[in-house]
Amino acid sequence: MTFSCPSTVIVAKNAIEKLGELLRSYQHIICVTDEIIQLDYGEKLRRIIGLDPEWVMASTYQDNTPVNESADIIVGFGGGRSLDVAKLLAARTGLEWISVPTAASHDGIASEVASVTQDGYRYSKRCRRPSAIVADLSIMLRAPPRLRLAGTGDILSKASSLAEWRLGNHKNGEPLNEEAFSLVSSALESVLKNSSLETLVKAEIDAGRAMCIVGSSRPCSGTEHAISHAMERRYQELHGLQVAFATPLCLHYLKDLGYAKYGANDLLSLMRKRGLPTTLGEMNTTPDLFIDDVHHALEIMKKRDRYSVLKDVEDDALLKVISELYEMP
Ligand SMILES: [Zn+2]
Repeated sequence: MTFSCPSTVIVAKNAIEKLGELLRSYQHIICVTDEIIQLDYGEKLRRIIGLDPEWVMASTYQDNTPVNESADIIVGFGGGRSLDVAKLLAARTGLEWISVPTAASHDGIASEVASVTQDGYRYSKRCRRPSAIVADLSIMLRAPPRLRLAGTGDILSKASSLAEWRLGNHKNGEPLNEEAFSLVSSALESVLKNSSLETLVKAEIDAGRAMCIVGSSRPCSGTEHAISHAMERRYQELHGLQVAFATPLCLHYLKDLGYAKYGANDLLSLMRKRGLPTTLGEMNTTPDLFIDDVHHALEIMKKRDRYSVLKDVEDDALLKVISELYEMP
C-alpha cells in the first residue's frame, strides 16, 4: 500500500480549528490566498494559529515573487488558484504545504499537480503533494453553487478517464495501477449515488491520492480533459463543467469498445439531473468548433504519449454523434 500521500486528511465542519495543532511547531508560516478569503478569514486564522502569517496573494504571485527565507511551511487557503500557487511555491522552496480548500470545484485540492497558464495555454505541472488537507465543510458550503457543480463534473469525468486509462494500457502498454484505479472508481461511484458536499470532497481527495500513487494525472485525466484544454483556447469556463461536457462523447466510444461501465446517455441524464450543462448552446460552442477542439485534444494526447479513444474516429462520425448527444436539450 502506498497510501502515504497526504498523511493527514480532515474533512469536517470547523476543520480549520485543527490548523492550530497542525502548525504548532512552525514559526514562519506563508499563507497563499486571495483578498476575499483574507478579509473573511484572516483574523480567524491568526487566532487559530496564534501568529501572523506572511500573506502571499495568488493573483499577483510570479515565479520570482520574494518570500521570507526563514519560512518553514506554506498554507494554501482558497480556491484553485491559491492552491496552485501554494503547490508552485512548495516546489520552488522545498517546503511542505497544507491544502485548505474553500471550494470543492475540482480534484486539485489534494493533488500535487498545478494548473499553469503559459502563452494562453494551460498545462499541468507536477509539484509537491500537500502534507495535510484540511477541508472545512462550513467554509466550503458557502462557496458559489456553480463551483460545487464543477467539482461534481470533474469527478463524473472519471467515468471516461478511467475507462480510457485501461484501454491505453491494453492498446499501448500505458502503465496501470489497480490500487489507483479502484480508488478513483469508488470515488466516482460515491458521487454518482450521493450529491452531498462531504461525499464530493472525499471523492476529490481520493482522486488526488490516486494521482499521487501513480505520479501522473492519467487516472483522472483522459481525452475529455484534453478537449477541455482545447476549449479554453476560445472560451474560459470552469474546468469541471468543460471536462464533464466532453465526457459523454468519449464514453460513447469507450462503451462501444466494452471499456466503460456507463454509456453516454447514462451520464447525460445524470448531468441534467444535477444541473450540469449538456448542450452545445449551454457551452457556447458549435459542432464544428467542438470537432476542432477534438483535433487539438488529439494532439495534446499524442504529445503526452497517451492513447485516445477518439484517435481514429472520422469527422463525419464525430459530427453525427455530437449532434445526437448534445443538440437535444
Ligand atoms: Zn480535472
